[in-house]
Amino acid sequence: MRMRKLGNSGLFVSELSFGAMTFGGTDGLWGQVGRLGQEDADLLVKAAFDAGINLFDTANVYANGRSEEILGRSLRNLGIPRDDIVVATKVASAMGEGPNRRGASRGHILAEARASLGRLGLDHIDLYQIHAFDPATPIEETLEALDVLVRAGDVRYVGLSNWAAWQIMKAIGIARARNLAPITSLQAYYTLVGRDLEREIAPLLVSEGVGLMVWSPLAGGYLTGKYAKGNAGDGARQTELDFPPIDRTRGEPLIEVLNTVAARHGRSAAQVAIAWLLRQPVVSTVIIGAKRLDQLRNNVQAVDVHLDDDDMARLDAVSRL
Ligand code: NDP
Repeated sequence: MRMRKLGNSGLFVSELSFGAMTFGGTDGLWGQVGRLGQEDADLLVKAAFDAGINLFDTANVYANGRSEEILGRSLRNLGIPRDDIVVATKVASAMGEGPNRRGASRGHILAEARASLGRLGLDHIDLYQIHAFDPATPIEETLEALDVLVRAGDVRYVGLSNWAAWQIMKAIGIARARNLAPITSLQAYYTLVGRDLEREIAPLLVSEGVGLMVWSPLAGGYLTGKYAKGNAGDGARQTELDFPPIDRTRGEPLIEVLNTVAARHGRSAAQVAIAWLLRQPVVSTVIIGAKRLDQLRNNVQAVDVHLDDDDMARLDAVSRL
């Protein structure tokens, strides 16, 4: 597994990372996707680490904190050396009732950082990300709270997730002007079937030296081809939850090309979809969301898929904005 620098920081992350959104039982909004217990989690984390993955991503909101608890326990169960891994988590989604139990205010960030450290069982978070833009809180307040955490040693790097281009640029400018902890990364949705990020965000990230962590690289399983041509499959993600939302009219011809390219290489559609992302210069790491060992083993082999210019042109022609 190759390593890439995360933006302009000195932090090296594996080009594939592991997402723990599926860890944690069945409570809450994320219950439909958060259902793996400790035993499954240990197997997946071990396989990911053994494959060379060093970055593990979770969020306080995943299964109401249980994803963080399970991930932290897996790291301990497996005896993975702390300095060999990068643990990323997030804050901003609702963790309870009331306006102060959500968002990116100073109070909520400081309280939730402490809670995340407790659930993970760690003394620092490597990358702390604001899960979504909070229109109720001035960006200055958010960045100052993050800076407090960095200076205290509770957090090493600061990231954003799902922010619009103007919001990211504003945050970068404020952090620079006030000498606050810099924005190291953005976590955002980017796939062959969802390339909106290329309009404004990708050039912004390249220009400003901010790393990109891609979430839902298979569009929640859609790009494995198993939901193509009106076949809804049996996955909750693509039937009940429909997340991320997918334009199936555009998706169907794309899946045909994806399958053709995959067949040409003797690879799976999932591997080709991930390999295409790895060819994009803006991408620092692609967060794999496998639920089972066979899926994880399949997806990590994407790092050995070498798409040529002809493959890239065919995939581009059927998926470009
Ligand atoms: P994917 O788009 O890769 O979807 C993963 C799902 O696709 C799996 O749960 C599985 O679902 C199916 N799948 C995966 N690999 C294969 C395979 N080889 N063959 C067949 N099916 C496969 O990623 P996720 O949506 O899970 O997101 C990955 C990570 O990104 C999360 O864990 C989280 O860390 C992060 N994330 C961040 C968000 C944010 O707002 N910042 C939002 C969403 C995710 P099934 O078996 O049910 O089909």
